[in-house]
Amino acid sequence: MSNTEVAPSEITCSPDTDEGRVELVAAREVPLGGPRAITVRRTLPTRARTLIGAWCFADHYGPVTDGPGMDVPPHPHTGLQTVSWLFSGEVEHRDSLGTHATVRPGELNLMTSGAGICHSEVSRDLPGPLHGVQLWVALPNADRHGPRRFEHHAPPCVDLGGARARVFLGELAGERSPVPTFSPLLGAELVLDPGAVLDLPVDPAFEHGVLVDTGEVTQHGTPVGRGVLGYVARGSRTLPLANPSAVPARVVLLGGEPFGEDLLMWWNFVGRDHDEIVAFREAWERGSQQFGEVVGYEGRTARLPAPPLPGVRIRPRHQA
Ligand code: MN
Repeated sequence: MSNTEVAPSEITCSPDTDEGRVELVAAREVPLGGPRAITVRRTLPTRARTLIGAWCFADHYGPVTDGPGMDVPPHPHTGLQTVSWLFSGEVEHRDSLGTHATVRPGELNLMTSGAGICHSEVSRDLPGPLHGVQLWVALPNADRHGPRRFEHHAPPCVDLGGARARVFLGELAGERSPVPTFSPLLGAELVLDPGAVLDLPVDPAFEHGVLVDTGEVTQHGTPVGRGVLGYVARGSRTLPLANPSAVPARVVLLGGEPFGEDLLMWWNFVGRDHDEIVAFREAWERGSQQFGEVVGYEGRTARLPAPPLPGVRIRPRHQA
């Protein structure tokens, strides 16, 4: 998915070293533009939190039961990886690497921009309503000028005793995704049984976020509402998760070592400073081969134009 906000602002992301409590990050609703508009619930980046490890962007959407779904024309990315993770529905993906893939529920589709890529995404009306998350992973400075990549992985469903997990990046409960990451990272979907009480072993060097999709969930004993991201700083060896309700609960668990590099995010670009963002935008607008071309997209607009840049340099903002 593209960040198709009409007037995106620049956001500086810095690492966080606080410990010891669940910080509740409420989503902000963001209407995405484009030929088909849907509203997403964004928990990263927000004023409260900009990063969890290298995870720098989290949009939660659907189930989209009315309207035409999603149609995002070719648009660029730099300095990041996109993770499309669906609970239901289907998305047709095309990118300038030549990939033409169908994104299906429970399957990782990981696109690495390297120095520049572009892609389109169109949801299909069947087999179910569009419902999932779009996540971005920031690439470390040493890797962000590298080649484009695309990887697919259908993780097995692992029984955790009271919950089932699909580990799409990193390792949880002995299950390890074969897809390599550029920094220590964890991404998994968990479905908690009614009444489940879990104490998941986690890497104490990681900070963690639990994004609640459905159901009632407590994290370290703190209730985390639907659509809310519960954040815990590094230092915990276990992640206590429970579902006190009588129906299943579904969450997305994100983790990683604090990223340690300042980022500047604007529109669909992740960079390091304002001048670099300006150059990325200018390159996209003039059709630079930095981003390549998407072949086969048949929407009404050949490519998504970049919005105007903010009139001022945005000053860095630090986490509490
Ligand atoms: Mn995108």
